[in-house]
This record gives sequence, structure tokens and C-alpha cells, in this order.
Amino acid sequence: MYTMQLRGINLLKIRGVQVVIDYSWFVIFLLVVFSMAESYFPRTEKSYSTPEYWLMGIVAALLLFLSVLAHELAHSLVAMGQGMRVLSIRLFIFGGVAQVSSEPRSGRHEFLIALAGPATSMALACIFGSVYLVLWMGGWLRPVAAVAGYLATANGLLAFFNMIPGFPLDGGRILRAILWDRWNDLTRATKTASRIGNGFALVLILFGAVLLFFTQALVAGLWFIFIGLFMKQSAVGSYQAAVLKEALKGVQVRQIMTENVVSVDWLTSLDELIRDYVYRHHLSSFPVLDREEFVGMVSLADIRPVPKELWGFKQVRDVMTAADRVLSLRPGDDATEALTRMVAADVGRMPVLEDGRLVGIVSRRDIMNLFKIKSDLGLT
Ligand SMILES: [Zn+2]
Repeated sequence: MYTMQLRGINLLKIRGVQVVIDYSWFVIFLLVVFSMAESYFPRTEKSYSTPEYWLMGIVAALLLFLSVLAHELAHSLVAMGQGMRVLSIRLFIFGGVAQVSSEPRSGRHEFLIALAGPATSMALACIFGSVYLVLWMGGWLRPVAAVAGYLATANGLLAFFNMIPGFPLDGGRILRAILWDRWNDLTRATKTASRIGNGFALVLILFGAVLLFFTQALVAGLWFIFIGLFMKQSAVGSYQAAVLKEALKGVQVRQIMTENVVSVDWLTSLDELIRDYVYRHHLSSFPVLDREEFVGMVSLADIRPVPKELWGFKQVRDVMTAADRVLSLRPGDDATEALTRMVAADVGRMPVLEDGRLVGIVSRRDIMNLFKIKSDLGLT
């Protein structure tokens, strides 16, 4: 079984929120340092040496990183102030994402959460801008002024770009919040806002293609295309999630779970497990029982590290994920919630327990099938 994996470096915790730097973020960091040191600063500030330009570039990139972090922290703190749980802040190649454990309670709540980020970036732009102006007018500390000037522009652009009203950008969230408040229908608001987000993503991709084919700006062109593709994917994902949520509304786990569960006794050898269960049932994970008691789950991922020669000697209980570490559902849980949890934990099947007893199992495929049937019948 897998637990949620964050691909990157766990940097620090701020008020219980884990800050994660995705490996892809280093690409943007190097790109910023390089373009600052080799092109931007030498053009704007002429009289310095190469090491000085590189130092300025590194300082600018680090402060840009802190600016993006401040933007995401602002979203997170407002969300936490409303009683929501923020799991992590993740910085990656296109900026930052704050992962929140649930949806905001109302349009008004979401409005404030979404606005906090761009407002922070705008405030930072003003602060860096003032520093720049004061130093520039006094003619002091020219390199510091140059870095401040760059950060004022970058934060201003960050605020501006994020305020574009296409979901999942902040501006799109603000739009969704307003529509949600007006229509009192989150699904409909999400659909509209993500449609606009999708449209905006297409504009970015087109713009990137124009840059790529008609100008010399190769990097910028590719950049816009990738950002556009990324946004398009998120917008389409949000749209589908909204449709799915609507279809699964009011459906409980007990209605979609399989009750005749194929389970494995915990003393079964791995050989038997493969031969009599995995091959026969074409499933990749099984609940494990000790007589009637649910004691864990065993999956192919648990068996894989064990050398094949040992399969006859090892038993399921030696490799299984013990019950206390298994994520499970209850019969009364919401189907949408079940799907969300399975996707987050990256598992295909989740056991359903009632008072510690195994009563069924839910697979992602079951949920998606139900969705397909409903949409084939025109019920969504
Ligand atoms: Zn934001």
C-alpha cells in the first residue's frame, strides 16, 4: 500500500503546514538566476563584475522564492483562520500550490482565501517598489535598488497573472466564489469558472505558438505553451471533478461497495497468494484476515521487494500493511469523499470497516463505473 508521497524536499513547517519544494522548482530557480545574472542585471546596471551580477541573481531568485511562499502562506493562513486544514504548500516549476483538505464552506469564505494571495503579492510589489524608488532617487546602493526593482515587477506580474478570472487561477477562484454566492450552486459555478480557465489556457498556448514561430523568443514561447497546457489540464480536471461530484451526490459507500470480498488468511504463503488470488482474481490488493478479524491489506507493492526464492517461505502477515496503517472507509461515508481519499493515497481499492470488522471493499473502478452508467443514462 502507498501513502501519499510528495516528490520533492520537505523544507520546513510553518504553523503545521509542510513546505515542500518540488524538484521541478530548481529548474525555474536556475533559470531565474541565470537570466538575471547574464542578461537582466548587466543590461540595467552596467558597472559591475560578473560575480556581482551572479550574487544579485541569486539574491533576487531567493527573494522571489520567498515572495511566492508568502503568496501561498497568505492563502493558507486565511483558510486556517476559517477552520480549514492546510496539508502542505508545494513550490514547483509554475509557482506554488497550497493543498487544502476540504472545499471552503461558502462563496464568501472562498473569496477571502483566493484574494489573500494576489493581495499579498501586490503588497510586496508596493514594498519592493518603494525600496527601489527611495534608493534610486538617493542614488544609494545601486545593486540593492536593481534587485528591489526586479522584485517589485515580478510580484506585480504575479498578482496580475493570478487575477486572470480563469479557474484554477486565483482570479478564477474569486469568480467562482462570486458565482457560487449568487447561484448557491458550487457545481455550476465550478463548471463556468473552469470553462473560462480552459479558454484562457488556449489563449496562452496560441500566444506561445505565435512567439515560437514568428519571433526569436523561443524560451518565452515554450514557456507560455507549457503554462497553457498545465492550466488547461487543471481546468479540465476541475470541470470533470465538478461533474463527478454532482453524479455521486448523496451516494454512500455502502451502496457501491462489493460485499463479497475476496480476502486472504494471514498465514497464506506468498506463493499461494500469487497463484490462488492474484492470478485468479486479477486484483492487485487483498484484505487480510486472522480468522474473522481484519488485520491488514496486502498488495503487489508489498510483495515486489521480496526475492522470488523466498515466496514459499514468507507469509502474508510478514509483508502486509498492518490494519492500523491502512486507510479505510466506513459504510456511511460519502462516495465522493471515498474517491478523493483513494486518489490522494494513490490506492485502487480501500477496505470498508464497521466497528473494526471488514464489511466490504470499494474500488476506484466501481465508482467510475457508477459514474459512467449515470452519465450514459443522462443522469448527470
Ligand atoms: Zn494564489
